[in-house]
Amino acid sequence: MHKQNRIESTLLRRINERRLLEVIQQQGPSSRATLTRVSGLTAPTVSKAVDSLLKRGFVEELDPLEQTLGRPGRLVRMAADSAAVLGVVIDVQTCCVVAAGLDGHVSEQQTRRLATPKTYVELLDAIEQQCRDLLGGITGRVHGIGVSVPGLVNERLQEIVFCPNLHLLDKRNPARDLADRLGVDCVLVQETDALCLSERMYGDARGLHDFAMLDVTTGLGLGVMSGGQVLAGHSGMAGEVGHITVAPDGSRCGCGNRGCLETLATDMALVRMLADKLGRPVTPDEAAAMIGTRPGDFQHEIRTATEYLAIAIAAVINIFNPTTLFVHGVLLAGSDERFARVLERVKQRTLTASLADCTILATRSSKRQAAIAAIMHQLTNTWAPSIR
Ligand SMILES: [Zn+2]
Repeated sequence: MHKQNRIESTLLRRINERRLLEVIQQQGPSSRATLTRVSGLTAPTVSKAVDSLLKRGFVEELDPLEQTLGRPGRLVRMAADSAAVLGVVIDVQTCCVVAAGLDGHVSEQQTRRLATPKTYVELLDAIEQQCRDLLGGITGRVHGIGVSVPGLVNERLQEIVFCPNLHLLDKRNPARDLADRLGVDCVLVQETDALCLSERMYGDARGLHDFAMLDVTTGLGLGVMSGGQVLAGHSGMAGEVGHITVAPDGSRCGCGNRGCLETLATDMALVRMLADKLGRPVTPDEAAAMIGTRPGDFQHEIRTATEYLAIAIAAVINIFNPTTLFVHGVLLAGSDERFARVLERVKQRTLTASLADCTILATRSSKRQAAIAAIMHQLTNTWAPSIR
């Protein structure tokens, strides 16, 4: 009986601490009085929770000298000087490693980029080296590393079972391998799920419990936040709308099939269409410049990608009924004018009632921010469950 009570009170304490951590994350540096008011917890509970979070190294106090006016109550903020996390983004063409405080602020100065190597071992070697380089410059405690990857992540098997656009990741778990090499906790997260977490933690989805994220950069990835949880399915592989066949005799997809939605609706698809038209390789940057300066020359290709992106967006809205659908992309979603044209086409492809229920936004959130959000989510989630 006594033991039961103890377990309950520990859980309750942790839930309060997590709640407070979320408030600090959203509010920025705050006094205990502010935290009490905003969190709805009592002053003694806030005080105890802050002490515990300080001890765990999740938050830090600002020296009163740094404050300008008012009573000298010390401010509490997410640990930025005394603690850090790393984010690793593994992607088809470029990878990046970024260091950030627990406030999640990412900067160019703390970012390292590398061209994605040809083999898995070379990839690990290169990322390990960049991580060590960044870790060398960190004086505080490193709480963990978020590793964002494309492809199908099977959570039960803890591996990337299949990666259509980067096969060197097939049957691998770079998070586990990096943890072994670096001696730091690493968490493996599917990149679109990471974007969902990032949008909810740092972006426009703050406070939203039901929204979806469509990543149309390289592959076509979908993350769905349903009732405040990332929709996982049986093994974490739910949401693969990119491999719905839309053109049975279309071009070969990385998954082995033909005419998947992802071969027609993504930035990469448009780049490939431009390359086919010109009869030579085209880089994504080049493609952006070409459709920006002479769209008339590529009207057919732009229209095709626009049409299929609209079909993808409509499918997500019809199936999942999100309050907001975020679209993460560069060539079409990154331009107001071109995105407006996509939205026009969406109207024609979506059930009217479902569309009326949904806001569609282009998101500027980045995969490096998402990798940081993934590790921050892991840190808070392993500490205590979220209670609403
Ligand atoms: Zn496919």
